[in-house]
Amino acid sequence: MRLSFTHKKIYMKQLFFVLIGFALFGCSSDAQQFAVSKTPEEWKKMLTSEQYHITREQGTEPAFKNAYWDNHEKGTYVCVCCGQPVFSSAHKFESGTGWPSFYQPISAKNVGTTTDKSYSMVRTEVHCSRCGAHLGHLFDDGPNLTGLRYCINSASLKFNKG
Ligand code: FE
Repeated sequence: MRLSFTHKKIYMKQLFFVLIGFALFGCSSDAQQFAVSKTPEEWKKMLTSEQYHITREQGTEPAFKNAYWDNHEKGTYVCVCCGQPVFSSAHKFESGTGWPSFYQPISAKNVGTTTDKSYSMVRTEVHCSRCGAHLGHLFDDGPNLTGLRYCINSASLKFNKG
């Protein structure tokens, strides 16, 4: 069927608005923009495959088989991707889970949270506010002080002693 000129014009107009709609929807649902942003290839060059999987693909490392779950030294845990301080040994506690656990971040502005609906669960995902690196999850069964438990992957952290 051939469309008349007027119909074509209307069709084009509708198409235009549909495309604008997609563009706006695309932007609003798009991943948050972070101050530090790299392509997957750039991240892969600077991270181990485990670090990449956990921080950039929302992975989880095995409990008790990770670097910091039993680390009792004093120091600062920084994001393995961008170096932003995210947790402190001062807020680390024994959760018994086999993952490094903290009752608060080093600073509220250094970590962000999103709702994670993967694996048929609704959980609060925790990430670095500077580069978006997935760090772990946040639960509300932490110790009295805050009642929070930041369950963090060692592979998303780098420990700086002192
Ligand atoms: Fe980061």
